[in-house]
Amino acid sequence: MSLTIENLQASVDETPILKGLNLEIPAGEVHAIMGPNGSGKSTLSKIIAGHDDYEVTGGKVLLDGVDIAELEVDERSRAGIFLAFQYPAEVPGVSNANFLRAALQARMPEGEEIDAVSFYKDLYAKMDELEMDRKFTSRAVNEGFSGGEKKRNEILQMMMLDPRYCLLDETDSGLDIDALKVVAKGVNSMRSPNRGFLVITHYQRLLDYIKPDVVHVMSDGQIVKTGGADLALELESSGYDFLKTA
Ligand code: ADP
Ligand code: MG
Repeated sequence: MSLTIENLQASVDETPILKGLNLEIPAGEVHAIMGPNGSGKSTLSKIIAGHDDYEVTGGKVLLDGVDIAELEVDERSRAGIFLAFQYPAEVPGVSNANFLRAALQARMPEGEEIDAVSFYKDLYAKMDELEMDRKFTSRAVNEGFSGGEKKRNEILQMMMLDPRYCLLDETDSGLDIDALKVVAKGVNSMRSPNRGFLVITHYQRLLDYIKPDVVHVMSDGQIVKTGGADLALELESSGYDFLKTA
């Protein structure tokens, strides 16, 4: 079982962004992607989730061996893909609780109704774990949330939806150290042999709390280096200068 990217090529407005990217995330593993701004990290995560700004011009995204290219965003979500956005959208007029309830309802078999009591019990337990005030259940999704509150809310969604493959795009940016620890605790509580993670980050700091099995460096639309957790430490001290000479 794995999320596998094979020779993925993609463009936006005819400009190539991903240039033959290969990546395999077996279930049970946490992979981190680091790399300079503009190398295509967010593009990769959005293409896996099914964002329609991007034209896939070659290659495959395989979810447990099945090509998901033809699936719509919601179908990919129900198949087990989750993306925590670098810049989470605000959804005015839809309360956080109703949003999550609708998302979970959409996963249930036709004719079955979500149980409100157990839904709220589960929601409150997860909010407690993320140290989120109960008032966030009735507030509109992300509307007026601070940067850190939005990121915590992305993790709440992830914990409620129980996805098979979790993509986290710079979830650490905008978080102070205490919030970072809380978010990492949420992620770590979800680590499981049945679930894979792709954690995109600029900073080694996050990886002190979410220990990756594998670290990749992305540059100009490709994975250019892969190593263990210590590769992130190496990058922290020496930066990405090696990319220029490579
Ligand atoms: P990263 O997340 O690694 O910083 P991105 O994936 O956000 O990189 O961006 C890679 C490149 O693709 C950048 O040059 C960016 O300007 C461009 N790009 C990404 N998305 C779009 C878009 N929707 N429209 C135009 N250009 C885009
Ligand atoms: Mg990005």
